[in-house]
Amino acid sequence: MNLDIIPLHLGLSHFHTPSVAIEAMQEAVAQHQTFYGPNEGLPELRYALAQRYLEDDGVPIPAEQILITHGTKHALHLYLHSLLQPGDEVVAPAPYWFAFPELVRQSGGKLVPVPANPEEEYRLNVEELRSRITPATKLLLLTNPGNPTGKVYSWAELQQVAALLEEFPNLHLLSDEIYDGLGYKGPLPSFLRFESLRDRVAVVNGFSKSFAMSGWRIGYLIAPFPILEKAVELQQKWISGVSPFLQAGAVEAIRQRHRIWQQFRTELEAKRERVTTVLQKMPKLQFTVPDAGYYVTLQVDRCLRPQDPASPFQLVEEWAAALKDQVGLEVLPATNMGMPGAVRMSFALPDDVLENALLRLQAFVS
Ligand code: PMP
Repeated sequence: MNLDIIPLHLGLSHFHTPSVAIEAMQEAVAQHQTFYGPNEGLPELRYALAQRYLEDDGVPIPAEQILITHGTKHALHLYLHSLLQPGDEVVAPAPYWFAFPELVRQSGGKLVPVPANPEEEYRLNVEELRSRITPATKLLLLTNPGNPTGKVYSWAELQQVAALLEEFPNLHLLSDEIYDGLGYKGPLPSFLRFESLRDRVAVVNGFSKSFAMSGWRIGYLIAPFPILEKAVELQQKWISGVSPFLQAGAVEAIRQRHRIWQQFRTELEAKRERVTTVLQKMPKLQFTVPDAGYYVTLQVDRCLRPQDPASPFQLVEEWAAALKDQVGLEVLPATNMGMPGAVRMSFALPDDVLENALLRLQAFVS
């Protein structure tokens, strides 16, 4: 069968980049902001971000503590490279973004996954986290909201993490908050609110998800000064600063964030409802309703051997390959996200495409 493939595997939405960002970028080009910018990033963007954390989280972050990077992956890379020594361990709840293990490995470290239980809606299990901390553990890596889970940690869960950091005075924490504008109950609090831990807490974030600007490659790192200075030095040595005219677009996106997020959220919420309603009619697939973002993590164990002895599929990869071959749906097996037996599926698609995808999924599963 020669079917068009519906891409449910992608890590980006169907939204266009907000026009305010495009216009500001075009204006900057027209004004000839087309030369090298500062390695640390444009002051306007660093100040706009500092202002954002002051307004939304009530925390004063000096603009000098914010490094603008070539995307959030790059912010992660610079931070990990600045912090880790060979042999260091990084503890992270699983499932996690699939790029984490390699990013950690590139910096000489090792990722130690702590599986979260979907039956408990991926609750943060602080006891489990504590049990994995050894003298080699340098960093706790949180993703909030989660990818692929869409889990938003409650304030109480974050407080437990903060208490854990108090117990281990050499432990650092990195909070990846790249989906933070897409929380269905509104934008979520940053881990930066724990001001007393500021000498060990870092945040990475960016414009790819909450602003639909993945091709712009803009992210940022907020880190304790000794780490940040190292990261700036690496950025200077390896790649130089981000294009000024792109950062001019990002400034306008940040200034208008609440309006943009509200619009994205409203549209995504309707899609989440629709997907949830349809998936609930497929008892073979288990899932947790996401609190944020546009992914659903589908547990397909019931469609695999040994749970279903009649199934032709042993591995989730085989199930996903058949889904693509037979009904033209591409999903992402979560094995390399630390959750074998599950797949990640995006619902950030135009309504007609999403409806078509849900029909195909129903046909395949039944
Ligand atoms: N962190 C997480 C959790 C992500 O899901 C992604 C993108 N999939 C990134 C970082 C990287 O984003 P960027 O496009 O800004 O490099």
